[in-house]
Amino acid sequence: MKKNQISPSEWEIMRVIWTNHPITSKEINEMLKEKTTWEISTTKTLIGRLVNKGMIDYELKGRMYVYYPTLSEKECIRNKITELFNQVCSTENKVILKMILEDIPLSLTDIESVEAVIEEKKKTAPAEVVCECVKGQCHCSLNRDLKSL
Ligand SMILES: [Zn+2]
Repeated sequence: MKKNQISPSEWEIMRVIWTNHPITSKEINEMLKEKTTWEISTTKTLIGRLVNKGMIDYELKGRMYVYYPTLSEKECIRNKITELFNQVCSTENKVILKMILEDIPLSLTDIESVEAVIEEKKKTAPAEVVCECVKGQCHCSLNRDLKSL
C-alpha cells in the first residue's frame, strides 16, 4: 500500500483523530466501541501504521502519548478524489460526477451550493475536455488514432 493510502479501518481511526485531536489511543478505542469490536491492541496497531505512513504524529503529554493528524480530512479526501479521477479518462469526468450526484443524499441547500460551484465553473470551462490517456486505455484514445490515419 502506498504512503497516504489508508485502509477502511485506518480511516475509522483518522476520523476520530481529525475530530478530537490531541487524543490518546485509549480515548480513540473508547469512541470506536460503538462501531467496532476492537481491543485496545488492535487500535494501537492501526495507530502505529498511521504513524508509519506519516498520516499522524504524536507527542508525550504527561505520561500519555497523544496523537494528532499531519494532514487535514479535506486534504485526504481531495487525494482520494484526485486518485479516482486519475484512474479514468478525462472525457468520463462528467459520468463520475453524475454517478456521485445520483448516489448520495443532498439537501436542497447542499444542491444550491453545488450549483454555485457549477455556475462559477462555467465561466472558465473549455468547450471540450481532452483525453490524455495512453492508447488502449479508453475508447477515445483508440478513436483518436483512427482519425489521424
Ligand atoms: Zn481517454
